[in-house]
Amino acid sequence: MVAEKAADSTKEAKKQMDVLSSTQAVVKNALEKLGYPDEVYELLKEPLRMMTVRIPIKMDDGSTKIFTGYRAQHNDAVGPTKGGIRFHPDVTETEVKALSMWMSLKAGIVDLPYGGGKGGIICDPRDMSFRELEALSRGYVRAISQIVGPTKDIPAPDVFTNSQIMAWMMDEYSRMDEFNSPGFITGKPIVLGGSHGRESATAKGVTICINEAAKKRNMSVKGAKVIVQGFGNAGSFLSKFLHDEGAIVVGISDAYGALYDPEGLDIDYLLDRRDSFGTVTKLFNNTISNKELLESECDILVPAAVENQITEDNAHNIKASIVVEAANGPTTMEATKILTERGILLVPDVLASAGGVTVSYFEWVQNNQGYYWSEEEVEEKLYATMIKAFNAIYDTAQTRQVDMRLAAYMVGVRKMAEASRFRGWV
Ligand code: NAD
Repeated sequence: MVAEKAADSTKEAKKQMDVLSSTQAVVKNALEKLGYPDEVYELLKEPLRMMTVRIPIKMDDGSTKIFTGYRAQHNDAVGPTKGGIRFHPDVTETEVKALSMWMSLKAGIVDLPYGGGKGGIICDPRDMSFRELEALSRGYVRAISQIVGPTKDIPAPDVFTNSQIMAWMMDEYSRMDEFNSPGFITGKPIVLGGSHGRESATAKGVTICINEAAKKRNMSVKGAKVIVQGFGNAGSFLSKFLHDEGAIVVGISDAYGALYDPEGLDIDYLLDRRDSFGTVTKLFNNTISNKELLESECDILVPAAVENQITEDNAHNIKASIVVEAANGPTTMEATKILTERGILLVPDVLASAGGVTVSYFEWVQNNQGYYWSEEEVEEKLYATMIKAFNAIYDTAQTRQVDMRLAAYMVGVRKMAEASRFRGWV
């Protein structure tokens, strides 16, 4: 049992190392294609700053548990760093590094005045009480307080973190700062300075990309069969938006299994029954595995859960003609190559999921100016941003004859490389 667990964690660490090295390889390729010298790659291949913290928490049973957390700041040449905080048992330093690089690329793609950051704590919030979670959230903010702040590094939610956790973190920072600091973190509840449309922003952005990709393939989203892997923040809103548009959502999943029905699932019922961690399949007996779901019949496949889901082992069996990555890093480099060779249109994570950081930026702008926008204003601005980014990347892919992922990296890395040069760093 112990040996099995150790083998699992070695496998997970290797997967995360692959995620980082494949991200670095695409960044290198993008910089070379843009004609930048090698020292620019040397600067951008790793975060500028990486902090590891240990957080002691008194648990409900009276024991003290020490949690490990990370905060990575990839590059702040353009502006403060920005990126979510993940609470997950599989968090590693390598994963956080890769996630911070992707945030830099996303900020470049949607042209925000930010660099990328990311944080994570190794924990399983599904096994923790509300009180323990609050203590951990506050402890993490105290531990990283020296390097974060509204003009330094602005956190946000990610896997297994939500607006309540953002509220505790904002409150802790405000107490230390002795000043109300809503601009310290985004993804807050509306009453604490959150933005309308933030909660569903990632899914909205993905929906816009799906519609644009379908147009390029002369496919109608109405009537198209869609599979969404993951039923959390990104996956559940996305399923709802696509269902409301007339798409047939034939499959969904969570960490415990998947549901598939070729006639279409009852999305409203599933949304009603899901818990706050995006779990719903536990209520059913007729589930299939996530692996089976990814290879099931559909027109559009949206991985919206975790990394490394489409690999060289299953890329040949994917039935969809469009794959849109709502999750960060769901497709390996080998699988990207296979899907592209098979003529499948792959819309990469750094573009498709950039709606979240875009509306996080809108939230921060509203906090700084103290004047708040309506949901319609936010949606209009998000729509314009995503359409512009999608078309810039699609056109780059066409004119430079590269896949959408490399095109997205080329668009995403340019501003950061230029800013680093103007500052005289390289
Ligand atoms: P979430 O915590 O709300 O939901 C995660 C979902 O994935 C849950 O349904 C969970 O059961 C499922 N899941 C967890 N582990 C799994 C596994 N091993 N196999 C299959 N399913 C698993 O998280 P979220 O915010 O929806 O994020 C999902 C993905 O989208 C992540 O990759 C995240 O980085 C990315 N993303 C999220 C946002 C955002 O604003 N929420 C923005 C950009 C990117």
